[in-house]
Amino acid sequence: MSRTTDINTLAQGVQTGDRRALARAITLVESGRADHRADALELLEKLGTQKQALRIGLSGTPGVGKSTFIESFGLMLTGMGKRVAVLAVDPSSARSGGSILGDKTRMDHLARDPNAFIRPSPSQTQLGGVARRSREAVALCEAAGFDVVLIETVGVGQSETVVAQMADLFVLLLAPAGGDELQGVKRGIMEMADLILVNKADGDLKPQAMRTCADYAGALRLLRKRAQDPDGFPKALTISALEVQGLQAAWEEMEALITWRRNNGVWTATREQQAAYWFAEDVRQGLLTLLQNDPQTAARMKTAEADVKAGRTLPTAAAEQVLGPLKQRLVTNGHK
Ligand code: GDP
Repeated sequence: MSRTTDINTLAQGVQTGDRRALARAITLVESGRADHRADALELLEKLGTQKQALRIGLSGTPGVGKSTFIESFGLMLTGMGKRVAVLAVDPSSARSGGSILGDKTRMDHLARDPNAFIRPSPSQTQLGGVARRSREAVALCEAAGFDVVLIETVGVGQSETVVAQMADLFVLLLAPAGGDELQGVKRGIMEMADLILVNKADGDLKPQAMRTCADYAGALRLLRKRAQDPDGFPKALTISALEVQGLQAAWEEMEALITWRRNNGVWTATREQQAAYWFAEDVRQGLLTLLQNDPQTAARMKTAEADVKAGRTLPTAAAEQVLGPLKQRLVTNGHK
């Protein structure tokens, strides 16, 4: 079979929602091999961007209950007749807290649900690479006709930004805590959240969870209201992923927010902004790779970096040392 026939077959498989084809397609976009990359691009182009899922970004520190939430929430959605895909963005090689994001064994029932698809995070260390692959995996899930794509990440620095830039909704999962721990959540992450869900609001933890929720609701009110939000958003709610409580209410809030955004042009505007963001990111990444692959430039970059570290050169001047000769070359080529 020729390469093109192969890709056509794979594309068809994905489009009919065949989970094995989808898994193969994701493996293809995750591959770093140049020939795989070419195939992956061809596949993605073939599939196009007609179908759209609701992409929900989900973040929370290890132990907060992400797997439990995804299992309960995912099953609730499939119970409503929706098809749910779960992907993970994990830039850390040393998997924080030993929990593998998107671990199927921890979402046992959902993993066996024919209307669900779970993909554990690829073992990658470079956030740029992870981001591109995850984005492409999201696109593949959309092409496969999933209604909801849950993108899970763990609270480590930049990964939230990456997930927020590929999600329509950003949900932050928190655990009940003492008031002083409010400071522990970075302001930037709070600002990204459309919905804060305080999990484990059950048993002895319930009163604490309700206090934590009230604290966060207060903190959210202090943040500037965003143009992309209707009144009352961002919101904080309590849930129990374990006892499957509050999940219906959480879903209704998500739907209300998304409906509002769709009706007010925010959905489209956000997706456009995200497309532009990723385009710029890809150009930036691509340029850096180009520079690093050019031996002369790579050598210059090394020297310049050493100079900057030693305080011999200012960062701006060092960058100019690297970029100057390149500008020169571009100009010369341009005039040929
Ligand atoms: P993750 O690391 O964020 O994926 O967290 P897990 O889903 O693995 O949950 C960590 C621990 O918290 C497990 O022991 C869960 O049983 C427990 N847990 C998760 N959700 C709840 C909840 O709603 N209530 C209670 N009481 N425990 C929960």
